[in-house]
Amino acid sequence: MIVPPGSTIGIIGGGQLGRMLAVAAAQLGYRCHVYAPDPDGPAAAVAARFTRGAFDDDAALEAFAREVDLVTYEFENVPVAPLAAIAGRVPLFPPVEALEIAQDRFSEKSFVQRHGGRPAPYAAVDDRAGLDRALAEIGGPAILKTRRFGYDGKGQMRIDSPAGADAAWEAVKGAPSILEGFVDFDAEFSILLCRGQDGETTIWDAPVNRHEGGILVTSTVPAGPELGAAIPVAEALARRIADALGHVGMLTLEFFARGGEALFNEMAPRVHNSGHWTIEGAQTSQFENHIRAICGLPLGATLRTAPRVEMVNLVGDDASAWPAILAEPGARLHLYGKNEPRPGRKMGHVTRLLA
Ligand code: AMP
Repeated sequence: MIVPPGSTIGIIGGGQLGRMLAVAAAQLGYRCHVYAPDPDGPAAAVAARFTRGAFDDDAALEAFAREVDLVTYEFENVPVAPLAAIAGRVPLFPPVEALEIAQDRFSEKSFVQRHGGRPAPYAAVDDRAGLDRALAEIGGPAILKTRRFGYDGKGQMRIDSPAGADAAWEAVKGAPSILEGFVDFDAEFSILLCRGQDGETTIWDAPVNRHEGGILVTSTVPAGPELGAAIPVAEALARRIADALGHVGMLTLEFFARGGEALFNEMAPRVHNSGHWTIEGAQTSQFENHIRAICGLPLGATLRTAPRVEMVNLVGDDASAWPAILAEPGARLHLYGKNEPRPGRKMGHVTRLLA
């Protein structure tokens, strides 16, 4: 099914991912209609239309779906039920099943495991006694993470000894969680994959990702030779997962590399922060290929445009360095138009194409 240029793409979610999707869509001649609770978010400012609505307002989402030719989402914590209802009326990609699996850390790890992936040891934790059982099984150090609604390191807490269990249980506010063995990794990397309606799949160079306090700080391509063996295994897994889901659009899988092995961490059925470098660093960006895929167009080539590419997130006050970044030859600045630089808030990013 082709949704041709000139059509209107509905985007649920109004953050920077939606903003960069809308810019890529506009370049291909599409109009974007953004649906989000916050009218001052990054995406609304660059979209042709905006509807203010809550993510759980079934009636408002249904009315929004009637106004657009196709729906996609840039935010992972949208309730699945209203999306499934929309999907019956208007094409909606990526498939709701992919979102449903990715919204729950336990189900995503078991799904990926069923398809041959290897996560760090993990166990579901439903109550305080369950945490003790999981700690006894997995051992320490470990990380307790809420099953749902976690992002950028929120909703998770490291446990170094049994004495830390109470504090961790308090930190997750007793929410259904998983306990995960702490991985002493060599590096973190992600697989950025885009699958078209016809099953054609493109993959970019796998970025090596550095996090601080759970927040992505830099993504760099290409990865060093020490990750060489882990990446092809992870790519093959990502293809199997995308095929199994009948995925359409971007799918990102995050991994820990340890001793040449790829340990699966989590997946996102959407464009991803670790793929921002593709805007200037690849022949076709993750945002453009996502739009191409969901609209039934051929996917673009994903080759790197420079020997080395580095993306640095501008978090909180980092963004105040924008004059110096603009003065730097070759640095490509992206600001998301957020007016309040709170600590930990992603305000923009800079991409450097390097020799
Ligand atoms: P997540 O939200 O699960 O992606 O976690 C955010 C970041 O916390 C990861 O990118 C890692 O840097 C770190 N982290 C999460 N889980 C683990 C783990 N099991 N072992 C070591 N580091 C972890």
